[in-house]
Amino acid sequence: MAKTYDFIIAGGGSAACVAAMRLVRDFGFSVLIIERGPRKTAKLMAFPAGYMKYLARDDFLEMHHTVPQPQLSGRGPVVPVAKALGGGSAVNAMVYMRGQREDYDGWAAHLGNGAEWSYEDMLPHFKGIEANTRFNNEYHGISGNLRISEPQHTCDTTQDFLLAAQGLGHAYNPDFNGVRQNGVGIMQHTYGQWNGKTERSDAKKAFLDPLEGDPRLGIVTDARVDRIVVENGRATAVVYTRNGESHTVRAEREILVASGTYNSAKLMMLSGIGPADHLREHGIAVTLDLAGVGANLQDHHEVPVIATTKEKSGYFGEDKGWPMLRNGLQYLLFNSGPVTTTGIESCLFYDPDGSDRPSIQLYCAPIVYLDRDVSSAKPTHGVTFTSCLLRPKARGNVKLRSANPADQPLVDCNFFGDPDDLRLTLASLKVARQLLATEPFKSKIADEILPGRALQDDEALAKFAGQTVKTNYHPSGSLRMGPDSDPMSVVDGTLRVRGIDGLRVIDCSIIPFIPSGNTNAPAMAIGSKAAEMIGKDY
Ligand SMILES: Cc1cc2nc3c(=O)[nH]c(=O)nc-3n(C[C@H](O)[C@H](O)[C@H](O)COP(=O)(O)OP(=O)(O)OC[C@H]3O[C@@H](n4cnc5c(N)ncnc54)[C@H](O)[C@@H]3O)c2cc1C
Repeated sequence: MAKTYDFIIAGGGSAACVAAMRLVRDFGFSVLIIERGPRKTAKLMAFPAGYMKYLARDDFLEMHHTVPQPQLSGRGPVVPVAKALGGGSAVNAMVYMRGQREDYDGWAAHLGNGAEWSYEDMLPHFKGIEANTRFNNEYHGISGNLRISEPQHTCDTTQDFLLAAQGLGHAYNPDFNGVRQNGVGIMQHTYGQWNGKTERSDAKKAFLDPLEGDPRLGIVTDARVDRIVVENGRATAVVYTRNGESHTVRAEREILVASGTYNSAKLMMLSGIGPADHLREHGIAVTLDLAGVGANLQDHHEVPVIATTKEKSGYFGEDKGWPMLRNGLQYLLFNSGPVTTTGIESCLFYDPDGSDRPSIQLYCAPIVYLDRDVSSAKPTHGVTFTSCLLRPKARGNVKLRSANPADQPLVDCNFFGDPDDLRLTLASLKVARQLLATEPFKSKIADEILPGRALQDDEALAKFAGQTVKTNYHPSGSLRMGPDSDPMSVVDGTLRVRGIDGLRVIDCSIIPFIPSGNTNAPAMAIGSKAAEMIGKDY
């Protein structure tokens, strides 16, 4: 007889790995993770600098394109998501950021269930997961599985950025995940030391590998979950495809959906759970008419200001030819140098409207860089400041392209769908330009190549923003959590899908309002809290 598990998790990403570990280790359940991607990524992906080589490739990324966006003159920006065990944490840029206290307090206020999901409620989950190498205080823990540290190596451009931003009046902030978020500083990352080497601390390595050999944890990879089986109002099993063969596996207790914001919504709809009319359009039998499935999509997006420098600077050319060999050897022999950093080392949190609550995360990339589909700007010595909007007001959606599980869903990102999102972004482009005009940058900059000095008025800058806006890779919210009174909520405060027993969603899809920072740490905290709630239920 086929082995059964207490819980089956559809998708093996950031949230799923934490939840699986905690359900097994802390509560003694058996868990099966079914992940469509491979068990391992490439060796290079473990090196902090390695992920850049894979950003434009589909080895471990699924390259979604948004539907054409009228407000972006018909562009359909690329919006990649992970496909590998460990999910986003195995492919991402490793920035460790939690967002703001107000974000989680906003979730709690929306739910109206006391402190549940508030910052104070989430803090133990953030702390419990982390093994921080710098901070051990009321905000940080050192006993968790996820290794978190600062770059051992920072470049000249990063140092210039820290000084220029302070020159503009922004305070130096030693810890964006501590007392306050605003200010300029070095970001912590999810990497740490293994056998004397700095390596990526992805969710597989951090949370699953320590359970290696434990019969309570099953992992099937290269296996796509196609459908959740619902019998008499209860989710009982999943159907998945592996090597072209279809399998059905039953859960003794619950099915947990964690396929990431786009694919979790897709899986729900393929299972007949979603807006009835839309399901019928694709010939899918309606199990439950749930209007909110696929709605409420939010993502951070960013627009660049790019300048070249008069002299060599930053990391341009360090990944090619002799410098690459030298840097590789330095890393392998001494565990130091540029390979120990992702390259994006610092950022500035601030609000162009002047409040204390940042609405922009301005990254400093020490190179001329843009996604291929955005610009023909040639990589060279220079600096790229990207202004990333932290709480976009616009909402997009995820819909089915077809009833075929092999097809990607239709993603409508709706970047700049709200005029205020564009207003704040344009205001931040001006601040990015001020940074270029402030020492130590001022005397080092050769030329502003994008938007280019010729573009000054808001109309021209708005056009530029539409041509260049790109994702910061943080899709959230397509299966949002909300109170009973919220007709668009898909899950309640315990992450149970409304109207179906034995089914929860435990990944970034449940986010009601996107947090003001990178979303890997929030995904992991959600996975941790999900496991705790589930564990206490049985
Ligand atoms: C290129 C990139 C860079 C990023 N950089 C950062 C960063 O520096 N810092 C940060 O905090 N965040 C970053 N993020 C975002 C962050 O990694 C994600 O927000 C986070 O991983 C989301 O976690 P999740 O559990 O919701 O989903 P994911 O981690 O995406 O996990 C979903 C998993 O489900 C699997 N799956 C999907 N469909 C199916 C199916 N039908 N059957 C089986 N499995 C399925 C996927 O393959 C994937 O492994 C980045 C993301 C990307 C893509």
